[in-house]
Amino acid sequence: MHPIKNLIRGNKLFRKYHFDEFKDDLQELIINGQKPKVLFISCCDSRITTDFMIGSKPGDLFTLRNIGNFVPPYSTDGEFHGNASAIEYAISVLKVSNIIVCGHSHCGACQSLYEDIPDTNDYINIRKWLELGEEAKQITLKNKHLYKNKEEIYKATEKNSIICQLKNLLTYPAIKRKVDTKEITIHGWYYDLMDGSIEYYNEKSNSYENINNYL
Ligand SMILES: [Zn+2]
Repeated sequence: MHPIKNLIRGNKLFRKYHFDEFKDDLQELIINGQKPKVLFISCCDSRITTDFMIGSKPGDLFTLRNIGNFVPPYSTDGEFHGNASAIEYAISVLKVSNIIVCGHSHCGACQSLYEDIPDTNDYINIRKWLELGEEAKQITLKNKHLYKNKEEIYKATEKNSIICQLKNLLTYPAIKRKVDTKEITIHGWYYDLMDGSIEYYNEKSNSYENINNYL
């Protein structure tokens, strides 16, 4: 089927079979405004289907998606910062109490850190953006002896990147302040496309563990 026709058909089915389920909640959210408790930062990857994988509903998540689920460090250079403004809005206006950086397996962004990106203007912004994964790559390569093959290196890079992005979150003064006062908790999650499972980053043990043991 034509990809757009497919989406139109999907919307018809959504309205017919599922919209009623959310109707009352949405009415309330329209009248009183959204009050999400979670800023969810994930990858643009089309295989990440947030509402399916964690059962979130309208109003639950303020979502920021970008290539690689990267967090650009805080900047005051006055340029257009779409990612940073979404983060600021979540923190300062919506006052979310949780930030989840959700990376994933088979991430094209992390893999491309090991590939040559064409040096042309058609890729100029991708090349720049991928610099945000460089630290994770370097950390991974330092421990290269631990990994048997490329796949394991990519996986380690994906997981190390989440930790780097959590660190970048703390460069935002408002986030640092609110983490220190425990108004905000930050979480690193890793979603596996192979089986839909999620692991969380345990800062104390510096390792990823099954989400079922979390909280
Ligand atoms: Zn990705």
